[in-house]
Amino acid sequence: MATIKIGDLVIGGRKKVMIAGPCAIEGRDQLLQIAREVKAQGAVMLRGGAYKPRTSPHSFQGLGPQGLFHLKEAAEETGLITVTEVMEPEELDLICKYADVLQVGARNMYNYPLLKRIGRTDKPVLLKRSFMATIEEFLLASEYILKEGNKRVMLCERGIRTFDSITRNTLDIAAVPILKKMSGLPVIVDPSHGTGRSDIVMPMTLAGLVAGADGIMVETHPNPKKALSDGLQTLDFPHFRELMEEFRSLCKYLEDQEERRSNRAIRGAAS
Ligand code: PEP
Ligand code: MN
Repeated sequence: MATIKIGDLVIGGRKKVMIAGPCAIEGRDQLLQIAREVKAQGAVMLRGGAYKPRTSPHSFQGLGPQGLFHLKEAAEETGLITVTEVMEPEELDLICKYADVLQVGARNMYNYPLLKRIGRTDKPVLLKRSFMATIEEFLLASEYILKEGNKRVMLCERGIRTFDSITRNTLDIAAVPILKKMSGLPVIVDPSHGTGRSDIVMPMTLAGLVAGADGIMVETHPNPKKALSDGLQTLDFPHFRELMEEFRSLCKYLEDQEERRSNRAIRGAAS
């Protein structure tokens, strides 16, 4: 099982991680407020899009470079690792300067020139599953990055499109242990995009952890109703705090269980 080191942070080890932040970076104050909150609650990575792949060209498209400057400032103040989406190869150099981890969004999982280009950088990558990708296509997309030499790839299950419309996507929990087994790469679950509904982000977070996810990525905002994107799936701060309490206690249980399992294996090998 590969672990990924990003500064002092290890992903894919025994400790599970929380990645949190707004869907989109909307301004300096918004991002700093969120960064302080998620840091205080125990998240280790700050997410936030500066370049947003919106379904409608009329929707907010992100702040672009200005958003990256805010992200860097938030990282410097809080010490959080940052992750942000890259949509085009032309943006890559700038994003590499201002962010720690490159996110490839669901809409770009099939963008092979972009994947190859990212594979030639030295930045860790969070590769999201396309909402129409089979597990095999998802794994092959990750290999486009790995093949170019960049081995620090995390896979993110963020739901696939099915016939149901009560949820925005169907979070494919079964994909989590399968991806881990088949790729050996760390797997992150995104219950925000995976459901599209803030009211079920909590149970799907817990389900993701029990299925073996190495981390969870959620969207949070001080006022989701006013968020410029993905407000319906975004947690306000009180709900984010509640999520973190449950996250911590389940992680402790799972980490202890893992320790008991490995101790049993050691005793078994010695006898
Ligand atoms: C996001 O993380 O805000 C995002 C756009 O996700 P996805 O690419 O999974 O839709
Ligand atoms: Mn979003």
